Amino acid sequence: YQAKRAGRNEVRTFDPDRSAPLERLSLTTRLRHAIAEEQLVLHWQPIVDPVTGALQALEALVRWHDPVRGLVMPADFVPFAEETGIIDRLGALVLQLVARQRARWQQADGFEPTVHVNVSPRELRNPAFADRLSRTLTAHGVDPATIVIEITESAAMQDPARVGPLLHALAATGVQIAIDDFGAGHSSLSRLVNLPVHVLKIDRSFLAKVPADPASAAVLQAVVGLAGALEMRAVAEGVETRAQREELVRLGCPLAQGFLLGRPGPAVAMRAHLQRAAS
Ligand code: C2E
Ligand code: MG
Ligand code: MG
Ligand code: MG
Repeated sequence: YQAKRAGRNEVRTFDPDRSAPLERLSLTTRLRHAIAEEQLVLHWQPIVDPVTGALQALEALVRWHDPVRGLVMPADFVPFAEETGIIDRLGALVLQLVARQRARWQQADGFEPTVHVNVSPRELRNPAFADRLSRTLTAHGVDPATIVIEITESAAMQDPARVGPLLHALAATGVQIAIDDFGAGHSSLSRLVNLPVHVLKIDRSFLAKVPADPASAAVLQAVVGLAGALEMRAVAEGVETRAQREELVRLGCPLAQGFLLGRPGPAVAMRAHLQRAAS
């Protein structure tokens, strides 16, 4: 009886690491079901020019629309999916949803946004990934040059002998590559220059301390300079205040993303941004 009660309480916490095997099994089942039933939805967040606010790209962010719990955020299921291998199917669905929406924007609305999509380390290490992505884009008539694949710095830097060739194969399909959360992990600069990287997304933790902490501003400035020197575009993540935006303008950071500039929202909520960019 006691154990049963404890078990019930655990269901509410929804933390895969603290949950019992049975519960993990049911989470696995529910997530598989959610993928099969396409209960995953994409929200989109603008990436803008910090000077003018003009839309430069949109990042796709997955949510699980659970009929019982409502909108579940990626932190509550992406790591679990990665750990259990479900990420391959989840990632395939995300790519389909991205390609479908990008095609719809172009064909039905005449918008041609550059679109960013997050890919987890395990998906990236699947040797079939580049081919699968390529086929999904072709099936929807999406130009690969309009797609930016975001991989975290740690995923890009680990296992160089394996990841290097995978990234080159990916770039050869015509998509662009972004390093996400740059500065939060351990980057080797000599490795970075040898990877086909088009965009550096500077981890939110640096901007979070701006303008109070001059050292963080100096790091931001250095990364913006590094990106420019390597012919990559720098995106500052996590712009929440006007002071942070002004600092980015002062530092000459070309691209920015954050709640101040645009919150993630469903595709329909991006219409105003897209319309302004198109006119
Ligand atoms: P990320 O790729 O670094 O995405 C940025 C996250 O920061 C998003 O959280 C976004 O809502 C949030 N964010 C944006 N601007 C601000 C801001 O100004 N302040 C603060 N505090 N947060 C901001 P979200 O959507 O919860 O996603 C979290 C992470 O989950 C993503 O981090 C990414 O690593 C992962 N993720 C999201 N979608 C996917 C996906 O389709 N596939 C995979 N493999 N991972 C995904
Ligand atoms: Mg990202
Ligand atoms: Mg990021
Ligand atoms: Mg992040």
